[in-house]
Amino acid sequence: MRLVFLGPPGAGKGTQAKALCEGWRIPHIATGDMLRSAKVSGKLPPSLAQQMNAGGLVPDSVVIDLIRDRIAEPDAARGFLFDGFPRTVPQAEALDDLLQTAGFALDAAVAIEVPEHLLIERATLRRIDKKTGQIYHLKYKPAPPGADLECRPDDAEEVVRQRLKTYVAMTSELLPYYQKRGILKRVSGEGGVDEVTARIRAVLGSRSKEDGKELAG
Ligand code: ADP
Ligand code: AMP
Repeated sequence: MRLVFLGPPGAGKGTQAKALCEGWRIPHIATGDMLRSAKVSGKLPPSLAQQMNAGGLVPDSVVIDLIRDRIAEPDAARGFLFDGFPRTVPQAEALDDLLQTAGFALDAAVAIEVPEHLLIERATLRRIDKKTGQIYHLKYKPAPPGADLECRPDDAEEVVRQRLKTYVAMTSELLPYYQKRGILKRVSGEGGVDEVTARIRAVLGSRSKEDGKELAG
């Protein structure tokens, strides 16, 4: 199973990816998480950290290099789910080239669609457990007592609004890109987490069965 999850910030990509990848036994590869770790460990140039904090994208070459290295790791050999990558057509083209060289192709690009007012509410009230990386929400998914929560700096409302603009400007052209290739699956991200998970499984059909056997090939 080789998948990408598309959708604006706050759509629920990370939440769904975590829920599904465990059963599928494939890695959940989120470029946002990789960039945030690089920022914390001081490996990300400060100018790029600033771009992230302001709601812009980092240059294509930076994320393409991260992905090239990541898909060469052994756990990605039987599949992967990309969350937040690709975000531009040049990134999508680079991914196609990388996969073609390795003799693979994407099975599906799943676009999770959510109205703007819900995106703002989901992103601004998102909280992350510092230790486990688990994603919580102050209203929809409260954390258990004792969780050590943090709020992403780019989840401040004005930055979320900028990220939504960036999404429309840079990323929405990806939908026609994958539509033309016949692998775009659109899913409503409204409703509860389990409801959305069921919709994603439904659009992926038999390939989404959890036993992993039919995913091995
Ligand atoms: P993305 O990875 O697309 O930016 P996340 O998966 O981090 O989005 O979800 C954003 C916020 O919305 C999180 O706080 C998450 O707990 C919450 N959330 C995700 N899916 C749902 C849902 N179906 N209903 C309500 N809240 C949700
Ligand atoms: P995310 O966690 O996916 O919301 O990403 C957080 C931030 O990381 C984005 O707002 C961008 O600044 C940066 N980022 C993540 N993925 C990419 C990507 N594929 N291309 C460019 N920038 C990215």
